[in-house]
Amino acid sequence: MNKAKVNQEINLADYNDVWVIAEQNEGKIHPVTIELTGEGRRLADTLGKRLAVIVSGADVEDEARKLLHYGADTVFYISHPLLKDFSTEGYALSISELILEKKPEIVLIGATSIGRDIAPRIAGKVGTGLTADCTKLEVDETDHKLLQTRPAFGGNLMATIVCPRNRPQMSTVRPGVMEKAAFIPNPDGRLEIFIPNLKEEDIRTVLMKKVKSDRKKVNLIDAKVIVSGGRGLKSPEGFTLIRALAEKVNGEVGSSRAAVDAGWIEHLHQVGQTGTTVRPDLYIACGISGAIQHLAGMSESKYIVAINKDPNAPIFKVCDFGIVGDLNEVIPAMIESIDKNGSLEI
Ligand SMILES: Cc1cc2nc3c(=O)[nH]c(=O)nc-3n(C[C@H](O)[C@H](O)[C@H](O)COP(=O)(O)OP(=O)(O)OC[C@H]3O[C@@H](n4cnc5c(N)ncnc54)[C@H](O)[C@@H]3O)c2cc1C
Repeated sequence: MNKAKVNQEINLADYNDVWVIAEQNEGKIHPVTIELTGEGRRLADTLGKRLAVIVSGADVEDEARKLLHYGADTVFYISHPLLKDFSTEGYALSISELILEKKPEIVLIGATSIGRDIAPRIAGKVGTGLTADCTKLEVDETDHKLLQTRPAFGGNLMATIVCPRNRPQMSTVRPGVMEKAAFIPNPDGRLEIFIPNLKEEDIRTVLMKKVKSDRKKVNLIDAKVIVSGGRGLKSPEGFTLIRALAEKVNGEVGSSRAAVDAGWIEHLHQVGQTGTTVRPDLYIACGISGAIQHLAGMSESKYIVAINKDPNAPIFKVCDFGIVGDLNEVIPAMIESIDKNGSLEI
């Protein structure tokens, strides 16, 4: 087995620097890596520490080097032929090995399917805690504790969690929550290669083949405009109206969980605490009441338009423009206005 093992007694002062675990697939870097690099830079600057981004793979040195353009002082490229394809054991073991050797103080991982898979395993191997799905990170400058905030008790309150006795302090953060780091044309960080002590027998799974899903991609995270429907649509056919408006405004279709739970639309479209976190320029919520778990995923949108027939619906407290009315009348009127004027007049 690999050398990675659980820390027992640790000296907190031995731990330094902020790390971001990058995610790549065939050399393509997941956008959450750039978001976490921006957040990692902010935390490192607050603490007066260095920022490192960790990339694992085989033959992806050029892609790893490109991450220096987002403000990392160091990119550690964990390079090994056995890391060519993602495997839970291979990635978790080699990242843990590097953590045990270099002792970072903070480690951030994207809460993607891969991040959610490896983060708890890494935390277990290096003997520390993990706070999943954080929505806000701050540091206490006096004792360097990472204040990790996340929704708790079904999203009804926000809990701030600390990891006082173990290191590193590890958090996962969902894609879309943090702002992307800006591109730096002439970075001065450097790339270091790390060869992990990985053997074939450490990886108990074999990738037989990759099958690409033929499902239409839903890209809520990068969408500039999202038109979302909720229980107020009353039936799956209600989404025909939502799709028609989304098409007119070049937007993606989102939904509340109530619409997903009713089987009217796939979970891929769900916005909120247990769906996707989005921050488009324009979010149009149609027949959505504005439950706290829905707001958790869209309240950072630049402009929010709400259509709801109940003037007391909580969504009206967060929206920039509210339309009290029946969505079956309001949405066709909006589409007609766009057809007539070439733009939306509310
Ligand atoms: C742990 C946990 C996680 C959750 N995660 C999520 C999540 O990720 N995302 C999420 O969305 N929810 C989530 N929820 C569920 C959440 O609490 C709400 O139940 C859900 O958001 C309600 O969806 P809705 O607004 O579509 O439905 P409702 O709350 O039923 O609201 C429907 C709205 O439609 C309006 N309406 C009805 N007819 C019309 C009409 N003809 N025209 C205009 N308006 C009309 C009504 O006035 C009402 O305000 C979660 C809950 C829990 C406990």
